Amino acid sequence: MVAKKTKNHTSKFKISGVEFGGKTLPIFAGPNMVESKKLIFDVAKNVKKIGAHFLRGGAFKPLTFPYRSKKYNETREEGIQWLGEAKRKYKIPVITEVMEEKFLPLICEVADILQIGSRNMQNYPLITACAKTGKPIMLKRHYGSSLRDWLGAAEYILIEGNKKVILCERGVSVPHTHRTTSRFLLDLQVVPAAKEITHLPIVVDPSHATFWRPWVSSMALASIASGADGIMLEVHPDPKNSAVDPLQPIDYSDFKKLILNMNKVAKIVNKKII
Ligand code: PEP
Ligand code: MN
Repeated sequence: MVAKKTKNHTSKFKISGVEFGGKTLPIFAGPNMVESKKLIFDVAKNVKKIGAHFLRGGAFKPLTFPYRSKKYNETREEGIQWLGEAKRKYKIPVITEVMEEKFLPLICEVADILQIGSRNMQNYPLITACAKTGKPIMLKRHYGSSLRDWLGAAEYILIEGNKKVILCERGVSVPHTHRTTSRFLLDLQVVPAAKEITHLPIVVDPSHATFWRPWVSSMALASIASGADGIMLEVHPDPKNSAVDPLQPIDYSDFKKLILNMNKVAKIVNKKII
């Protein structure tokens, strides 16, 4: 098993100049979906200024219902181009989701990291195709998967000789005990559990886990305290009008406050953000 920790080591690697597994905790921020050129330019400019290391945003989206956002099916390829233009203009590297192998050449022209979404965590042919491109990969945990299954999927990337693998915890399915709209439960215990057995860095995404804006900041701070190697956040200038999952993104002002607070917690665990 390549993902297995042998000695007491953790993976350290750089992606577009940003170090993973080191002292600085990389922050990924951006909208759920690349809704328009205007939106992605605005977000790239602002999250970069506030302190994000990577711009996130899906052009190809696994939407729970097929009805919404028909117009976005026509802007998927354009969405990748817009991400590329925003990246060059604001000098911020990009992470975006891959859903189908046939779009890999297009996505690879722009993406600094390929995101495998939770729904595709065990789509081994897709994972292998992504791994073979040599691009760094973020593997989001499926909301029903064990740590063993998650690491097994990571192994499909590593076995291709692609060592730049980042795990991402994004909440698991449990009986909905907190509130009816709380879609997932952030499994922070998986951070120390994974660190016991793997050297791979683990990023935590409290936006998808909580599905509820008022809980995102505290869970982001808790994620850093748990030992996370980075944080992924949905940030949108007008969260309530986000085309997808409008309950979960935070706005620029909350993101700014959160970065400062995350930096304080990071110091306690001997890391930093800015
Ligand atoms: C996303 O990050 O946009 C996303 C769809 O996340 P997940 O695969 O974790 O649901
Ligand atoms: Mn999403």
